[in-house]
Amino acid sequence: MKSTMKRSVCPYDCPDACGLLVETVQGKAVKVMGDPEHPYTKGSLCPKMAHYERTVHSSKRVVEPLLRIGPKGKGQFKPISWDEALHHIQRNWQQIIDNYGAEAILPYSYAGTMGLVQRNIGEAFFHRLGASRLERTICSPAKGYGWSAVMGETMAPHPEEVVLSDLIILWGTNVLATNIHLLHQIKEAKKKGATVWLIETYQSPAAEIADKVILVRPGSDGALALGMINILVGEHLIDEKFITQHVQGFELFKDKNLSDYQPEVVSSITGVDVATLEEMAKFYGRARAPFISLGSGLSRYGNGAMSVRAITCLPAVVGAWAKPGGGLLAGISTGSAFAMDKVTRKDFMKKPTRIVNMNQLGQALCATNPVPIMSLYVYHSNPVAVAPDQNAVLQGIAREDIFTVVHERFMTDTARYADLVLPATSSLEHSDVYRSYGHYCIQRAFPIIPPVGTSKSNWDVFKLLAQVMDFKEPFFQQTTDEIIDDLLQSSGAWLAGIDMNKIQDGRPVELPLPLDYKTTYKTPSGKIEIFNPREDEMLPRYTLPHGDDAPFWFMNAPGLYSLNSSFNERIDLLKLGEARRLMMSPQDAEAKDLKNEQEVIAFNTRGEVDFILEITPKTPKGVVVVEGVLWIENALGNRSVNALTSQRLTDRGLGSTFYDTKVDVRGKLKLSGSTITSMV
Ligand code: SF4
Repeated sequence: MKSTMKRSVCPYDCPDACGLLVETVQGKAVKVMGDPEHPYTKGSLCPKMAHYERTVHSSKRVVEPLLRIGPKGKGQFKPISWDEALHHIQRNWQQIIDNYGAEAILPYSYAGTMGLVQRNIGEAFFHRLGASRLERTICSPAKGYGWSAVMGETMAPHPEEVVLSDLIILWGTNVLATNIHLLHQIKEAKKKGATVWLIETYQSPAAEIADKVILVRPGSDGALALGMINILVGEHLIDEKFITQHVQGFELFKDKNLSDYQPEVVSSITGVDVATLEEMAKFYGRARAPFISLGSGLSRYGNGAMSVRAITCLPAVVGAWAKPGGGLLAGISTGSAFAMDKVTRKDFMKKPTRIVNMNQLGQALCATNPVPIMSLYVYHSNPVAVAPDQNAVLQGIAREDIFTVVHERFMTDTARYADLVLPATSSLEHSDVYRSYGHYCIQRAFPIIPPVGTSKSNWDVFKLLAQVMDFKEPFFQQTTDEIIDDLLQSSGAWLAGIDMNKIQDGRPVELPLPLDYKTTYKTPSGKIEIFNPREDEMLPRYTLPHGDDAPFWFMNAPGLYSLNSSFNERIDLLKLGEARRLMMSPQDAEAKDLKNEQEVIAFNTRGEVDFILEITPKTPKGVVVVEGVLWIENALGNRSVNALTSQRLTDRGLGSTFYDTKVDVRGKLKLSGSTITSMV
């Protein structure tokens, strides 16, 4: 049978944004590989996407619109036509608008697809509708805020810089799970003699590639950075020439704040002993070109933005930015290359509407002021599984009077609570254009197989909804490819110099960087702003995370075989069982009289979640770890990890605080086939 090979892009929420080669036979994807021509992917894929065809053609795909016929949450539906589904939505929304106003309708979406058009274009529809707006801050806005407070709009280093570094610090990042293609550069640097450190709250899988693992207390990363800077000053390992030329406020910082971070104090905050702290600072200060790859997890505490701000000062103090291979990579922003207003159409909004923070969905669904949320439209997101405080979200979404529509590929936890489920296309079935937050490539993708069943892309559904809601704007008549063409043609100078033929051909293209981009600081002062006069706290310092009144920090780390709650449809990945296991140190297990492989419950004031206990020295005392996120149907009990996390926000950026969670753990006893909770 004739097969064809076509290019596409991985759509998931991952900095690697891999280029794919997809083999198709008779309209079906049969094999998915990494594109060897993609400068970052270099022909390899992570284990999740190596068999993407199993996701695309899964027997679990929702293939037609489904109307609820049973109680909410029971997953009982009957198929209906698209026409019936669209008119059902129109009738419900019109009634809600008449009775409560359009702000009673809330869209909820995040990063189920990272394509610029399919991900963002729902905003144009909801702006036109006059719906409430969603503050999309579930990922790491505090990280972005902390970086910007010091570096402004400065461009992030190209990942190839890593190859030139002699000290690579993986700070709070498990690159094997979340940024696996950085391994290409790390391995090359190691061949040339580079040292790799991992700074983490537990010995994550990334420890495999590290020469040294430094475990810090959760939420104390900022203190560690300040303690290192204090030692660098004392040891005369700072780059005074670079500081004089390129850094604002270092003397003030040194005089006012730094003396608070003596090694003994920092050791007591971080749990890192004084000797290690001194060794780290000296090694960092003497490195030829130290490079920090900064993860996002450490920004998801109540002190997240301030922690990132403190860490971002480190390369400035040793002048790492001026050295090939030196610097800090917190995330790459190529957003300014695209005129995204063309997609999100803020101009369609007649007046500013209510804003709901997506981390506080539970509170929002249960509130009645200013107007209750009477309809929720969820697309490419699964808030019941991924939003914090699962019990609050469930309480809200189970309301009998809320009309919930979920546009999805699978019957997720959230879809089970829908009044109407609409079938969604996978990335191989629709057009889009992608950029990355881990490298500088952009790439256009075209549909390479027909839609599975009657599934439709986000934009195709919004166009149909625009018709039934009688929106007259020509914008809602366009095809996805017309919108992409317009976006590519009308975007800024950064796109002007690239090879558009390659883009139109679906090949990856790198955005060009100015030669001096690492020493051009796009801040109001033109310098790296350790002193930032626009902040209430003008100098970085250590601030406390929120914490809870419970004995164990609860780390929900990224899994190797899932991504947020994606890939829970894949039995082959699920059977690896990572997200059912709660890792605990031998000392803590002994103190709690818990046994390896025992069923346990992690609990706090917000909820309880069942796990299998894994006793391991990889987890330090006082910390428990779960890798990955499960749908409730795949979890051991009737809740998954986010029943434990809170709706509290970060110090800046209105971000999530998933890691700022503490729990206690108790065992379960098995009695004649049934399970009861022990009194341990
Ligand atoms: S999930 Fe990340 S590493 Fe895996 S294929 Fe997609 S972009 Fe690449």
